[in-house]
Amino acid sequence: MASTALIGLGSNLGDRRVWLNGAIAALDASPGLRVIRVSSFRETEPVGGPDGQGPYLNAAVAVETTLDPAKLLRTLQSIENRAGRTRSVRWGERTLDLDLLLFDDAIVESEELTIPHPRMTERRFVLEPLAEIAPEAIVPRTGRSVSELLSDLIGDRPTG
Ligand code: ATP
Ligand code: MG
Ligand code: MG
Repeated sequence: MASTALIGLGSNLGDRRVWLNGAIAALDASPGLRVIRVSSFRETEPVGGPDGQGPYLNAAVAVETTLDPAKLLRTLQSIENRAGRTRSVRWGERTLDLDLLLFDDAIVESEELTIPHPRMTERRFVLEPLAEIAPEAIVPRTGRSVSELLSDLIGDRPTG
């Protein structure tokens, strides 16, 4: 039985568009994986990392997969590594970040994997592209859909 997984993509180093397009092609070429939806690419300001990073290009994709969540995470990490991803500074600049946001309606909590992705509901750069491809997806534990969570977040912004 195939599952549907939603993946968030980000890049702020090098040719960002090439990294994102390459990652989407690599996902689609991976055994047990098929890309079924791709959001637009959006430029966003870095959040939370060290000062002086360049802007990100963010996107989201939906895949249909026969892999389990742990194997899917390993596939994402090997695509990141092939894109020259290094991990020196937390939330530092990177050629490619592939985060597993949702996997059907699964809740996973292991040492290396948490689903839903723990910070997704507070990030516009995640929810905006996700709302393009999966607005009705329910985020387990919140009982709310992606589009509702995005409205909540936008509603939180100070106005005027
Ligand atoms: P953030 O998770 O806040 O977006 P990041 O993407 O920069 O930060 P990474 O360096 O890509 O963080 O990943 C750090 C660790 O997070 C990985 O080693 C991985 O095991 C773990 N991890 C836990 N849950 C997930 C998930 N849902 N998707 C991707 N990685 C995850
Ligand atoms: Mg990330
Ligand atoms: Mg990551």
